[in-house]
Amino acid sequence: MSTQPPLGSSTISPHSSSMQPARQRVTGKLLATQGYVLGIEISGSSGYQSVVLANLDGTILHGVRCPLEDVADTSSVLKLVNEMIGEVASAEQLCDGRLLRVGVAVGGLVDVAQGVVRTLYRAHGWDNFPLQDYFAERLGIPCIIDNNANAAALAEVQRGTGSGERSVLYVGLNRGIGGGLVVNGRVYHGASCAAGEIGHMLVKERGPRCSCGRYGHLESIASAQAIRQAMIGQSTKYAESEVASMTVEQIYCLAAEGDEIAQQVVDEVHQYLAIALANIVHLVNPGMIVLGGSVAQVGELLIRPIQIRLRELCLAEAFDALRIVQSSLGEEASIIGAVTLALQDM
Ligand SMILES: [Zn+2]
Repeated sequence: MSTQPPLGSSTISPHSSSMQPARQRVTGKLLATQGYVLGIEISGSSGYQSVVLANLDGTILHGVRCPLEDVADTSSVLKLVNEMIGEVASAEQLCDGRLLRVGVAVGGLVDVAQGVVRTLYRAHGWDNFPLQDYFAERLGIPCIIDNNANAAALAEVQRGTGSGERSVLYVGLNRGIGGGLVVNGRVYHGASCAAGEIGHMLVKERGPRCSCGRYGHLESIASAQAIRQAMIGQSTKYAESEVASMTVEQIYCLAAEGDEIAQQVVDEVHQYLAIALANIVHLVNPGMIVLGGSVAQVGELLIRPIQIRLRELCLAEAFDALRIVQSSLGEEASIIGAVTLALQDM
């Protein structure tokens, strides 16, 4: 496992402040020191797989995060994740008790009722994979799985910036775009667990091609990948390879420095993300929208224009009750969500 970097202080650190000590959980007669839960995050190719060990008050004790550059078929991902579990939850690390639950956040469509992965994006062999049963049998403990944006939404409500809010929409702006809606403390899954897939909302007819094969979806304009693609397509100033390795923060910096193409790209992101959010606001009337994922790392450069545009687009009755904020759990929201899933199941 030497090639796999441990989660450093810049990612998930033991006793991370982002996993704030919650009030002592009282689950039967168990105390926080009498057992552990595992949190697992599974993503497709070019994504990170993460495994963390947490105690029963949700404090992360150990964690590993590994990139997977190969094709993310079931056997290669599960082999890697099982090695990571062996590293994070060794007998030595389970000194005060045993594993009690495992929660898994999956970067794809998940049928929560059946415990089955319907699709894992940028991966092969995952369609209808019974992941919940797999880990339950493999580890001999109950397992709960959900989509990664749903897990992140739950984490933001229980452990992050959405604490105390009754209706929160989480938007994960990463390579793709996911969403999670938490109402009265529970994730809203919809009729077939596809609720919250806001990356596939149509916002621009005859817009760019989306990862799902259709056109003009939010993900094809406002995801990190789409932002880079738009820069590559429109800017003659930078080589394609140069733009492909840029972070979204660097593209926002170019816009702030006056690069006209970068400004246009960023303006389009704000314009179409605001349209999607305004439509959701009038359906759901959330008290808070949490913007997370790598694109939201630009902070106020994204939050402020979205606030201004939503004020223009929304009925005052809906907008006045709404706060639009940056995720407080950042890129750790999904793995903290996996831990939250496990703890919520106890
Ligand atoms: Zn789509």
